[in-house]
Amino acid sequence: MNATTLHTGTLAHLRGDPFAQPDALEIIPDGALAVDAQGRIAAYGPGPELLARFPEARRIDHGPDWLIPGLVDGHIHFPQFYATAAPGGQLLDWLERSVFPAEAAFQDADFATATAGRFVAKLLASGTTTALVFGSQYYPANAALFAAAKRSGLRLIAGMTLMDRNGPSVLLQTLDQALDGTVRLMALCEGEPRLHYAITPRWPMACTETLLGICGELLRDHPTAYLQTHINENPGEIAAVAAGFPESRDYLDVYDRYGLVGPSTVLAHSLHSTARELDRMAGAGCAVCHCPTSNLYLGSGLFPLTRHVERGIPVIMGTDIGAGTGFSLWRELAEAYKVQQLQGLGLDAARLLYLGTLGGAKALRLDHATGNFAPGKDADFFALAVGGDAYLAARLARCGSWEERLFCLLHLAGPAQVRATYVQGRIVTIF
Ligand SMILES: [Zn+2]
Repeated sequence: MNATTLHTGTLAHLRGDPFAQPDALEIIPDGALAVDAQGRIAAYGPGPELLARFPEARRIDHGPDWLIPGLVDGHIHFPQFYATAAPGGQLLDWLERSVFPAEAAFQDADFATATAGRFVAKLLASGTTTALVFGSQYYPANAALFAAAKRSGLRLIAGMTLMDRNGPSVLLQTLDQALDGTVRLMALCEGEPRLHYAITPRWPMACTETLLGICGELLRDHPTAYLQTHINENPGEIAAVAAGFPESRDYLDVYDRYGLVGPSTVLAHSLHSTARELDRMAGAGCAVCHCPTSNLYLGSGLFPLTRHVERGIPVIMGTDIGAGTGFSLWRELAEAYKVQQLQGLGLDAARLLYLGTLGGAKALRLDHATGNFAPGKDADFFALAVGGDAYLAARLARCGSWEERLFCLLHLAGPAQVRATYVQGRIVTIF
């Protein structure tokens, strides 16, 4: 019995980094993706060629739909699932008024478990197959999140959000709780190829120096763990860090002093980073996550993409729920385009798609497993329907090239067009 499955449709992915390689975008109309019995990509290419090569394969015909590598969300808060679209205020006001109460609700383990299932389903339904997630402050809620990801197939990197000062007491951990919760959750990821742990100090003002020191020790003792946190999002936040850590020369230096800056570090936002901070991030191999709808929603600023790319800092995209306004990373790509337009940079379809797929996978050092259709990688992808929306179909028909069609899709399509998402070749959501 031949266990290969052949998906036919229009394929679009990146062979390399379009910021460095002009021909990195590959679009194959009437293409095919061969998936082996282990859920890995066996081959991709023109449909007739693969049909001849795998004549016995089970065939799934996606018709005119586009097959695109699973999206990579580099920053999203699980306990802010219901904190979206909260009115008023910039970052620090918004945290106090809207976010902390929403996060406190995750003390209820039944509520947290139900929400974990919905959270994972929402990401998969949006075409996201890999996510780096700020978890809850509570161990049972995080255990439920890892369990939901394992059941569904979502590739999850997550960690307990750590805070022991400057918040409602119900959200603050003791040092023992922070350490014990982190170590127990790390153990849940052992032997699970699609689950990874991220040590997650919220931001410097939410953590005592002792807790930041513990995070540094954990990172040193667990070389496979990630470190995720926030940096340089909002002027009020930056001023608070400067006042709280007067001995540090800048925001990044606070993290550096506790051993938190290295190649497994992912820093969210970096809107107002100085040249010194950017140089240090580049030297240390940190990645930075850009969250456009969140930045616009909270009035935080415009992400200086060029300043990061020219230094070789890997950039990943994030929805940043609940400051972000949707679970669709695809929608974030369209907003990233507008944010760069305001700064005089016109991103093309190749660069936008890269930021949401292969670029994100590289930033998380997961590009051996996901991000494009290279043989050997997990068959994580989604089908984007182009026929159901009459306007979209008519607009695409007027495009002069396949690249232009992709550019239109990046702006005009959204989660409503995600017809099916596959993880390791297995369908995980369908509408
Ligand atoms: Zn955040």
